[in-house]
Amino acid sequence: MDAPMTTTIELDTLVDQLDLATKVRLLTGETSFTLYGQAQIGLAPIALSDGPTGVRGLEFSGGPATCLFPNATLLASTWSTAALSEVGRLLAEEAVRQRIHVVLGPTINLHRSPLGGRLFEAYSEDPFLTGALAAAYVEGLQSGRVGACLKHFVANESETDRTTVDSQMDERTLREVYLLPFEIAVTDSDPWTVMAAYNDINGIAATEHDELNNEILKREWQWLGLIVSDWSATKSAAAAANGGLDLVMPGPEGPWGAALVDAVNADDVAEATIDDHVRRLLRLGERVGALGEPRSWPGVPTPDSPKRRDQLTRLAVAGMTVLENGGALPLPVGRRVAVIGRHAVDTVCLGGGSSQVRAPYQVTIADGLRQRLGESVTVVDGVGVRSRLRPARAGSLVDPITGQPGVRVRIFDRDGTTVADRIAEDNQCDLHGVDFPGAEARIELRALVPAGRQSVGALGLGDWEIRVGDRTITTTLLPLTSDHAEGILRPPGTSTDLVLDEPTELVATVSVRLGEHNSFAVVAEPTPMSDDDAIRAAVEAAQLADVAVVVVGLTQEQETEGLDKHTLALPGRQDELVEAVARAAERTVVVVNAATPILMPWRGSVDAILVAGLPGQEAGHAVAAALVNDLEPSGRLVTTFPAADEATPAWDVTPTSGALRYQEGPFIGYRGHAAGLAAAPAYWFGHGSGYGDFVYGHPEIVGRSVTVPVENRAAFDSREVVQVYFDPAAEGQPVRLVGWGSGVVPAGGTARIQVDCDSRMWRTWDPESGAWTLLTGGELLVARGLGDIRYRLPSS
Ligand code: BGC
Repeated sequence: MDAPMTTTIELDTLVDQLDLATKVRLLTGETSFTLYGQAQIGLAPIALSDGPTGVRGLEFSGGPATCLFPNATLLASTWSTAALSEVGRLLAEEAVRQRIHVVLGPTINLHRSPLGGRLFEAYSEDPFLTGALAAAYVEGLQSGRVGACLKHFVANESETDRTTVDSQMDERTLREVYLLPFEIAVTDSDPWTVMAAYNDINGIAATEHDELNNEILKREWQWLGLIVSDWSATKSAAAAANGGLDLVMPGPEGPWGAALVDAVNADDVAEATIDDHVRRLLRLGERVGALGEPRSWPGVPTPDSPKRRDQLTRLAVAGMTVLENGGALPLPVGRRVAVIGRHAVDTVCLGGGSSQVRAPYQVTIADGLRQRLGESVTVVDGVGVRSRLRPARAGSLVDPITGQPGVRVRIFDRDGTTVADRIAEDNQCDLHGVDFPGAEARIELRALVPAGRQSVGALGLGDWEIRVGDRTITTTLLPLTSDHAEGILRPPGTSTDLVLDEPTELVATVSVRLGEHNSFAVVAEPTPMSDDDAIRAAVEAAQLADVAVVVVGLTQEQETEGLDKHTLALPGRQDELVEAVARAAERTVVVVNAATPILMPWRGSVDAILVAGLPGQEAGHAVAAALVNDLEPSGRLVTTFPAADEATPAWDVTPTSGALRYQEGPFIGYRGHAAGLAAAPAYWFGHGSGYGDFVYGHPEIVGRSVTVPVENRAAFDSREVVQVYFDPAAEGQPVRLVGWGSGVVPAGGTARIQVDCDSRMWRTWDPESGAWTLLTGGELLVARGLGDIRYRLPSS
């Protein structure tokens, strides 16, 4: 759907009708996720929602059920712009169902250090792959007249001290690596918004960065969109308004308002600058249908519709990546399969933080395999994988009053008057959208906890009293970190182990101060068996089966906004579990339920490894389809898997005196491994085989286009992804991906796969002249990741 464009002159006429205070008011949000409307000029309030793997809506928690997509790395592993464009179109439909105008995604920061907690939300370590996939996502989303938001601009690759860190790098690295995905997406898909990051870049806050925001993004790239701050990132009035920031979020409080009006009156900010911000806001309004002719909100499939199930399953499988396969995959149907692991029975379908959505359901890998393979499957829980508490799983508790699934939430003001009384189906709540007369509140959470050995308690900052039967726990939960979002993203908790003879009521009350955006939840989980017992049970099941499928992975404790990892080792005793099963089983297949690199000390002793990412609501169906080859897992890695902790070009993410130096320069990921900055990795970026076995014929080069005859010697039709890298063979110039192409090669057949390389990848930034120059000479490498180079050809 094309958005009609008003000319700048017409927008100017609207801006001229507004006085200064009115204009400035429009430049801070009205609420956490909505903007002010202005009836006088026909501007309706604009609604924004996170992004990027689902459209959560206006509530941080407890909002409507909405589709949970496969996570960004899994989608990126498709190496398919068609898939990302489809994701964009589906997200637009999800937004339309909720009357959302802008989706806060895609996240296009890079996988610099594998420790980055938020990498699961971003695509890749490669700037070109990231930019091309982002452009496709933006194009798909905006074709539904829903705005995209490239985030976080820029150099926001890790989470430690995320709101204060100064990301420092040389100009060439900034241009060639970290700005490049933004440049490609802006140039190729014209996103309607960009989000300024929390961090500083070379000493200047992203929200105040005149050079990046005004000079590069708006002038050099000729971009007419709107720059919105990351939530609570704006530190100043005049400096941010002059530094190119157009919109402060969230609202209604914030550093602009009266301070910005004063700054204009004091001539610290030109009124023309304010007008430009407003013009950009109105342009966004028009593009999304909030200004001028009202937009339509057509009906779309429900999040649990069969259509969505098929779409989400197909997208997830397409990104799943076969790392090793000694013939154990595809799984033969009809053989006895032991499915083992906590991640099999409690599959992690999404990462942690603001990208979370409330899915209508989440299919575990154990359930998916049971449904697909029936009687031949036995399931064994594995060793523990979490060290922190989390909300009781949806569906595990009921409201004691109505018997409906969920927790009864009642909120009282200071005088004890009830201001809210509802059921939270996801067993958690926050104060979002609740109107209070006083400054204090008391929240009561009530639920019926099932009988048995249970670990029960509560999560959330504040003074708690938790009663379960005749037991009472009183405690005060204080923040554990200095992250401003801890109370909503990772609230601290308390719990105790109890043996309940019958379903027992839990009543947890917490006193809180208002104005803080915190969330609160009930904890209730059956106490699991010990790790020793779990390993023993797994070994017994493996011995009785033809194939053991062990599911291992990371949880939201590692893959989350707001925190980084310290190691790539799997949590708990998962490695020990895999080793024990591999010794006992005839064949062992490992499924990795994680978005980002992990260490696999057992990789030489298992028969196959499938990386399944964080597969979204259809997780179990998708993994089952991939393992039996109902759909081919045709993904390729989007990030290099190091062989050991620290064995990467960039590792440490802890700032020193507030600064994080990107000291590896442009040698990020595979580029640095190839240059000898780190030992050879376990698996290279681009690695993955699907179910094919490919032999390449001699490539043909015409201009920037490389065509490769590819033969598939396997017994299955299979999609091959041919990658072309450019090695400039010049000092300081890393080898880099310059193009890829893909096609399905029939079993026993041959297909010609064409790769159109992107000439932008031959550029290098010359800081002396402040301009791009073109590299000449060097070699083109036709490869399946740099660990498997098939041809070297001269580059023109
Ligand atoms: C995140 C953004 C997100 C915003 C709104 C921030 O903490 O960094 O990515 O869009 O919150 O939830």
